[in-house]
Amino acid sequence: MTKHDTCEFCEGNVEPRVVQARFHFKGQIVFIDGVPAWVCVKCGEQYFDAPVYKRLEEIAKNSNQIKKTICFPLAQYDMAVAS
Ligand SMILES: [Zn+2]
Repeated sequence: MTKHDTCEFCEGNVEPRVVQARFHFKGQIVFIDGVPAWVCVKCGEQYFDAPVYKRLEEIAKNSNQIKKTICFPLAQYDMAVAS
């Protein structure tokens, strides 16, 4: 397992986490949940180990039957509510 110590972009600390990966593949973005990744605590950049990356590619390749995406609002529970 490759160890990433610091972020390439902001040099923040990088720690292992299980994330919802946003994976760019052939011009589309595929979201894959439960992915082991290294995440920068400062900017949130995700790094994947080579075998994990390969696996994400496999999953993305097989997701080409997904033709539609949905959008939905994500509210914060403590958001300010106009009265
Ligand atoms: Zn960073």
